[in-house]
Amino acid sequence: MTSWLEISAGRLTQNYQALSAAAGADVPVLAVIKANAYGHGLALCGPVLARAGAPWLGVQDVEEGVQLRRALAAHGVSVAQQPRILIMGGPLPADSAALLEHNLTPIVWTIDQLEALHAALHSARPTRGHGEPFDVHLEIDTGMGRQGVAPGEPLQAVLAWLLQHPALRLQAVMTHFASTEVAHCELTTLQRERMERAMGAITRFGFRPEIVHVGNTSMVDNGEAAPGEGSSVVWLKGVAARAGAQPMVRAGIGLYGYCLPVEGSDTAASLVRRKLLPVVTWRAAVLAVAELAPGATVGYNGTFVATAPMRVALVGVGYANGLRRELSSGAAGGWMLVAGQRARILGRVSMNLTVLDVTGIDDVAMGDAVVVLGDGITADDHARLARTISYEILCGLRGTHRLVE
Ligand SMILES: *Cc1c(COP(=O)(O)O)cnc(C)c1O
Repeated sequence: MTSWLEISAGRLTQNYQALSAAAGADVPVLAVIKANAYGHGLALCGPVLARAGAPWLGVQDVEEGVQLRRALAAHGVSVAQQPRILIMGGPLPADSAALLEHNLTPIVWTIDQLEALHAALHSARPTRGHGEPFDVHLEIDTGMGRQGVAPGEPLQAVLAWLLQHPALRLQAVMTHFASTEVAHCELTTLQRERMERAMGAITRFGFRPEIVHVGNTSMVDNGEAAPGEGSSVVWLKGVAARAGAQPMVRAGIGLYGYCLPVEGSDTAASLVRRKLLPVVTWRAAVLAVAELAPGATVGYNGTFVATAPMRVALVGVGYANGLRRELSSGAAGGWMLVAGQRARILGRVSMNLTVLDVTGIDDVAMGDAVVVLGDGITADDHARLARTISYEILCGLRGTHRLVE
C-alpha cells in the first residue's frame, strides 16, 4: 500500500470525552461509527470508543454490526463489557436472524419491520430462553422525512401493534433533527413540538421507554438551536424526564474531529467545535522524484505545463483512495505536505497517482511519506475544493488503517 490512514486512538478518545462533557454528565453519548467509522475503520475505532466508555455504538446495517461484534471480541472487550449496538438503517426481513444472533438493536418504524422481527423471534424462541423480549428503538419522523413514523395516526397504529406483541420491547424512542447546525431554526422548533407530541402519545399508551435519544454532533455543539430557546440537549433532558427516561445524544463526525460551524449566530453559540481534533492523518509514499524542463506536461490531457525548470514528486495516491479529482491543479488546486512544506498538486489527480511540485523542497526522496490530509490540511479544505462537506470527504477515504497513539 502506497497510501495509508493513521488513526489516533488518543484523539478519538479525547473527542469522545469532549462531546460527553459538552452533552453533560447525565447525558450519555452514543458513538456513531456507521460508514466504516466515517472512513476511519470500524474495526479499529469501535474498540477504542468502547474503552472510552461509549455505552452504545451506532452502525448502519447488520453487516457492520456483525463486523463490530467480532472486532470488539478480537480486541478483548468481553461480551459483558461490550457496548450495545444500534443498527441505524431500517432492518430488512433477511436481517432478522443476524439481529437476534448477535444481539443487535434495530431502529424500526413500520409494522412490516416489526412483523418480520416478530416472526424471526418466534422461530428462534427455543434458543433464546423463554419469553425474553427483544428490544427495538422506535424512530419518530419529526421533519427529516427519511426514516421514522409520523406522529398521529401512523404512530398510534405502531403503538397499538406493539401493545399486542410484548415479545418486542420499546426500549427507546428517537428522532433525527434536520438543521442542527443552524442557530434559531424554526424547523428545529417544529421538530421539537412533534417529538413532544409523539412522546405524549407513547406515554398515554402506557409505554415507559428506557431511553430517548436525538441529535448529532452539531446538536451538541449548537447552544442556540431554536428561536427563544437554547440548546436542544437542554430540551431533550426535559422531554426524557417527563417520560421517566434516560436522555442520550448521538454523535458521529465530532468523534473524528470535525463539526459544521454554527450558521446564523456568533461563535458564542458553538460549545464544542473548537475542542475537537482531527483523528486521521492520511499519508502516501513518494514513488519517484524527477526534474521537469520548461514545456513539459503533467498528467492526463496535459493540463499542467511547466514554464520553468522544476522538481516534481510522484506520490502513490489517487481518486481510487478517495483523493478527490477536484483537487487537480487549475484555478484553485489541492496540496499536500512534503517535509512539512506545502506542495501543490500538478495536473490531474489520477486513479492511484498524483504529481506534486516540490521545487525548492530539497529534502525529498523516494520512499518518503507525505501528508495528504491531517497536520493542518483538513477535510474542510478538501471539501471546499470538491464543493462538498467534510462528511463526504471522510466517508470516501479508502485504504489500510493503522492505529497510532
Ligand atoms: C449519522 C447520524 C448521526 C451522526 O451525525 P453527525 O452529524 O455525524 O454527528 C446521528 N443520528 C443519525 C440518525 C444519523 O444518521
